[in-house]
Amino acid sequence: MYSKFQDHLTKELAGIKEAGLFKNERVIVSPQGAEITISSGAEVLNFCANNYLGLSNNPQLIAAAKDALDTHGYGLSSVRFICGTMDLHKTLEAKIAEFFGTEDTILYAACFDANGGVFEPLLGENDAIISDSLNHASIIDGVRLCKAQRYRYENSNMADLEEQLKLAQAQNFRLIVTDAVFSMDGNAAKLDEIYALAQKYDAMIMVDECHSAGVVGKTGRGITELHNLKGKVEVITGTLGKAFGGAIGGFTTGKKEIIDLLRQRSRPYLFSNSIPPVVAAAGIRMFEMMSETNELQDKLHANTEYFVAKMLAAGFDIKPTQSAICAVMLYDAKLSQEMAAKLLNEGIYVIGFYYPVVPKDKARIRVQISAAHEREHLDKCIAAFTKVGKELGVIKNEDSGCGCGCSCGN
Ligand SMILES: *Cc1c(COP(=O)(O)O)cnc(C)c1O
Repeated sequence: MYSKFQDHLTKELAGIKEAGLFKNERVIVSPQGAEITISSGAEVLNFCANNYLGLSNNPQLIAAAKDALDTHGYGLSSVRFICGTMDLHKTLEAKIAEFFGTEDTILYAACFDANGGVFEPLLGENDAIISDSLNHASIIDGVRLCKAQRYRYENSNMADLEEQLKLAQAQNFRLIVTDAVFSMDGNAAKLDEIYALAQKYDAMIMVDECHSAGVVGKTGRGITELHNLKGKVEVITGTLGKAFGGAIGGFTTGKKEIIDLLRQRSRPYLFSNSIPPVVAAAGIRMFEMMSETNELQDKLHANTEYFVAKMLAAGFDIKPTQSAICAVMLYDAKLSQEMAAKLLNEGIYVIGFYYPVVPKDKARIRVQISAAHEREHLDKCIAAFTKVGKELGVIKNEDSGCGCGCSCGN
């Protein structure tokens, strides 16, 4: 039996390679950070991690995790409702609710699970989910598992959202679902307008804060802080795997009754292991740090502003961003690959994205800024982009008026 299936798989894999869509993984042999070592031995600057606050290798989080190994052991070997709940999990859930100004929180192994397990327990076939067309794969999968009627609106298109909300009046309960920050463009959801439409058409709101929590808003409280709507949306999902330390873990936070019902009925919660105590303990320390100082958010915001301004001055086409994601538009898929390869030779680790991850002819290099980046890292990145950009004809060769002192030729 397997030999036939093996042939089939071999052909599938060859097809992926022929289409130029095969993903190769680079191997890192140092801790995650601004400066990393890859398996070739090269030391490069990392501009493609979700390590927005630079916490992946933070000494305080490492110390908290080490302490927890001694006080709480290594693993739980249980789901939460049998014998997998520790004081650490309850404390972390409370910290997350405090951070977002919500009523209660439920932890998951990952945000993929939080999104996979949020719709089906809450909504039935007489209800409606109205979803942004660029929402994350885990939201799409979660919606698929739910019997509610599905409506889709064009990314951030409020006129289209309104049309869909009118159609969804046919259902009983309505839930609008959106990523808070869209990961390929860096734009934030127009939550103020979404909120007004939700009021008008009697709908609830769910936001996925994965790329925005810790990043967006003056104190990094996410999209609800940015739009002055803290505590006003019914459901927030998020991850501990990006800005918040980057290890693993997800959560849903929001209205108390919603969280209560998820604890009873959400399948990825009921049928999957608890997050390890080291992760919970480091998470607690992380949220304590967030309430003690705004240093990391301030640095991240300053870094992003600096990077975008210099790149625009150098002549690059960057999508307007409200996050730490800077999409350097190249449009051509091959060019994006070639440019990323040349940048790696210059010591800058970035990734080119092209169809089907982004629309056809909208290829780009996605640069992710971190509070771990120092000015010299940013300058080196800008200089490398400028050098390679000129070589490849992406930006003009003459004086760009950059004047940034970044050795870009000005
Ligand atoms: C990364 C991401 C997820 C998945 O989070 P994990 O905790 O890594 O599973 C879900 N939604 C969005 C928008 C994301 O960017």
